[in-house]
Amino acid sequence: MRFRPYDLHLRHVFTISGDSRAVSPVVLVEVGFEGLVGYGEAALPPYLGESLQSVLRFLKQLDLSRFHNPLLIHDILEYVDRLAPGNFAAKASIDIALHDLAGKLMQQPCHRIWGLNPERTPHSSFTIGIDSPAVVARKSREAASSSILKVKLGRGTDKEIINAIRTVTAKPLYVDVNQGWTDKHEALDMIHWLKDQGVVLVEQPMPAGAVEEMAWLTQHSPLPTVADEAVQVVADVKKMAGVYSGINIKLMKCGGMRAALKMAAIARGLDLEVMLGCMVETSCAVSAAAQLSPLAKWCDLDGNLLITNDVFDGMKIVDGKVTLSERPGIGAVPLF
Ligand code: MG
Repeated sequence: MRFRPYDLHLRHVFTISGDSRAVSPVVLVEVGFEGLVGYGEAALPPYLGESLQSVLRFLKQLDLSRFHNPLLIHDILEYVDRLAPGNFAAKASIDIALHDLAGKLMQQPCHRIWGLNPERTPHSSFTIGIDSPAVVARKSREAASSSILKVKLGRGTDKEIINAIRTVTAKPLYVDVNQGWTDKHEALDMIHWLKDQGVVLVEQPMPAGAVEEMAWLTQHSPLPTVADEAVQVVADVKKMAGVYSGINIKLMKCGGMRAALKMAAIARGLDLEVMLGCMVETSCAVSAAAQLSPLAKWCDLDGNLLITNDVFDGMKIVDGKVTLSERPGIGAVPLF
């Protein structure tokens, strides 16, 4: 196993409710076996609490040489998981590399091994960060190749932003409030207004801890509500039933592809819809997430499109739709 830090450069300074940045660090991981290499990645958004230092510290502790069959992913990830609590992005990097390696050993893409239909991938949204209405409108125009835009709201300029976007495009919109609304009645009024503007879902409208308010809002909302900050790992999914309409699953939140598959299965069993999201990350982690996309109703896999120095060739969005290739494993090829 090898790993190294890598700095992703953002096309635009990216602002969501509570945070702004121009560079985003990741750690790239390689796990080798008999001449084949599986690639993985840990992305490190500040709000998840993992740092470059914590990921490197975690990975340095790992001794994968104690295992002699990389296909025994369950056993290996059990060992990885028990090394320390938390560290989900670090764990995801190993999980992704192992799934990539397993796919290469079996000469099949992960979605095929899981029996998923590559025709059933959803369209992916493209995220526009919080900015002045004029800049948001310009970025919306630049996102011409995307069929759905995801708009960050929650800073008191929501209507101005939506109105500015509507001067340049009539595309369907997802909105992500990142916990920015605090009053459920105002939130409901806003959702009714947003629905009239062609918005199709509302992600994390209220704080993650506002469970009763969210249950009320979801019950009354004319648009589906999606939990993001409120749902991180497998054990959180059952708490979302009756509180949100769906959950946003991200590999870096939950610890990787294996946990994400479990979350999707539990969610569907609880009548929760599945959204698949990502962080600012290369085509490595984005391609890994895309392997699960036939299970998702909504996809927001644009992390690789937000950077200028991707180091993988992987999943492509064609006419707005996520496309899965026949490449083995996660379907990403390193450019280094
Ligand atoms: Mg979100």
